Amino acid sequence: MTPAACRCRFPDCPGQARNAEHSVLSLVHNRTFEPRYGEAVALSPLVARMTAPNASPFTFHGTNTYLVGERDLAVIDPGPEDEGHIRAILAATAGRSISHIVVTHTHRDHSPGARLLKAHTGAPIVGAAEHRPARPLNVGEINPLDAGGDTYHVADWILSEGEVLEGDSWSLETVETPGHTANHLAFALTQEGSLFSGDHVMAWSTSIVAPPDGTMADYMASLDRLMARAEQRYYPGHGGTVEEAQAYVAALKKRRQAREAAVLERIRAGDAHIPEMVKIIYRNVDPILHGPAALSVLAHVEDLVARGVAVCEGPPSLMARYELA
Ligand SMILES: [Zn+2]
Repeated sequence: MTPAACRCRFPDCPGQARNAEHSVLSLVHNRTFEPRYGEAVALSPLVARMTAPNASPFTFHGTNTYLVGERDLAVIDPGPEDEGHIRAILAATAGRSISHIVVTHTHRDHSPGARLLKAHTGAPIVGAAEHRPARPLNVGEINPLDAGGDTYHVADWILSEGEVLEGDSWSLETVETPGHTANHLAFALTQEGSLFSGDHVMAWSTSIVAPPDGTMADYMASLDRLMARAEQRYYPGHGGTVEEAQAYVAALKKRRQAREAAVLERIRAGDAHIPEMVKIIYRNVDPILHGPAALSVLAHVEDLVARGVAVCEGPPSLMARYELA
């Protein structure tokens, strides 16, 4: 019996592919999201989401703060320095106590709120270490991402791989996921088999991986680390939940591998400089986004040089001249 033709919109679908296979065939972002600012939106018996009103092209509808637990709560990523959002968190948790303030990474849309919430509750700040670039800056290099880093962040306890935080009805296992930043952490909620994925894996968009804050090699290794785990539902730092997360993470990995192949193809074709590569690879993208795109290409060439596939004079940079090794 021949299977009925699949009515999906993917040109290379082999037939009645299951949904999980579809997202591998073509990476599909899900931008459906209703922020409901100021409200705690219940996502499961143990998890509620509160979105901060800091919408932007990089933060989508704003940063998601998660409330985890029943009576003693962990608050994950209290968001930017916004007293209004902190007051909303306090109102939503009135009558319960906040035992831990958990930080996934030190970008200014995620961690400054932790200090405000600590001032109100006295709860310890735990999770990500201090902000730092993934590698030292090269001579004369300016960090274009400097303004985004929360250099004031200090954790009362830094968490590392496998460390578990316990509350009355919940436990959060730390999963180190560097790549977007060097100190990025995800947290698995053991009771649910779900994972708070921060900005490492999001449904609405791919993660920004840009040197010197982030590195492609770390990012890819962190995708592999998640693929070695079982969680299928992720709660990201921006936008809606990721369902069928394993297939989605596999598709994210394929997307980056395809991008790396495109960069290699440009170097092979004789494009020695990143701006030339960006012009071709991102020809269908608004030129206003070519700056961030150049950093993404730099992340790929850094990795290619480290692996001995490509070479350049001096350290890899936006200006360097690249050729195949
Ligand atoms: Zn973010």
